[in-house]
Amino acid sequence: MLINYTTVNYKQTQKLGEKFAKEILLSRTSQKTAVVLGLQGNLGEGKTTFLQGFASGLGVKEKILSPTFVILKHFKITKSKFTDFYHIDCYRLKNAKDILELDFKKIISNPKNIIAIEWLEKIKNVLPKNIIKIDFKFIDKNKREIILKT
Ligand code: ADP
Ligand code: MG
Repeated sequence: MLINYTTVNYKQTQKLGEKFAKEILLSRTSQKTAVVLGLQGNLGEGKTTFLQGFASGLGVKEKILSPTFVILKHFKITKSKFTDFYHIDCYRLKNAKDILELDFKKIISNPKNIIAIEWLEKIKNVLPKNIIKIDFKFIDKNKREIILKT
């Protein structure tokens, strides 16, 4: 399924992320592996902004930042069937295999995990197939097109 959104400021993008997180928490479908979101788009197109709202929708209290030198950040989720949220940013990853050293296989195999990955094209060879892809397109300074492919 493809859903197209246009946001005209960063708050709308955060809100969209928040709404999407709440939908995932409410969804009845249970899967055998983690829920994996793959965010695609260039620098500054709003991937991290979307994830700030997404994390907040999951009930994460800490602020999501662009992890400049950190590749993986982990947050606890409570009060739902999910227990952990991982924010992975592969921008600075030199070798796709390096992600496996972060226990990646174990993380994606646990159905209690939600994982959001920025710059997933860098690790496409080690990704599962059933990823929810979210594409970000820059329209102008404050306007973004966000396409959800589930
Ligand atoms: P990325 O993670 O894709 O590199 P960021 O989310 O870190 O991008 O940065 C997006 C930047 O664009 C932020 O400074 C944000 O305030 C700004 N911005 C302006 N309009 C929007 C919008 N509609 N949606 C998301 N971000 C926006
Ligand atoms: Mg980012």
